[in-house]
Amino acid sequence: MFTSSDSGKLTEMERLRGDAAQCTRCSLCETRINVVVGSGNLDSDIVLVGEAPGRKEDESGLPFVGSAGKLLDELLGGAGLDRADICIMNIIKCRPPKNRRPKKAEVRACESYLENQLKIMKPRIVAPMGNSALAYFFDRFNLGKAVVGDVHGERYVIEAPWGEITMIPLYHPAAAIYNRSLMDELKEDMKKIAGL
Ligand code: URA
Repeated sequence: MFTSSDSGKLTEMERLRGDAAQCTRCSLCETRINVVVGSGNLDSDIVLVGEAPGRKEDESGLPFVGSAGKLLDELLGGAGLDRADICIMNIIKCRPPKNRRPKKAEVRACESYLENQLKIMKPRIVAPMGNSALAYFFDRFNLGKAVVGDVHGERYVIEAPWGEITMIPLYHPAAAIYNRSLMDELKEDMKKIAGL
């Protein structure tokens, strides 16, 4: 679910959701239950971008509702944010089988959905979460290659088609489920985002 005080933005986003629900650009359409285009407040300055829906997201049609989502809610809460006040999206909109990493061709097939979502929302702060989202945005903005362990919490000021953005990469919350020592860094990085 998206919310906004701007009915034009909401209509555009719901049209995009309808288009994505019919999408057959890659084979993930054969195994999906639902497309997961995202949720949150389109009037917010902040968008967090994950990798792809998992099983619970595929079943519900909503992003980050599984265990990584619980952790994300905790992290947001710790930084004084609520998921209803920000936007959450993914680089691809359909679940890859067995939650494998999205293939390059799948990311390419899906990229116009995210690009159009960002143009509708016009966020000022973009936080790619994890290496897949980081690779997508670094490529999109010609920043070369990087891994999240080296660049998380850094600020990148970029001229995006909808205006200037500050990009702050984050570890993916799921990474902290397997490696709790990342939690402190994630908490600090989330606070930087809230501080902006
Ligand atoms: N992981 C993601 O990257 N996105 C989701 O929506 C859920 C889990």
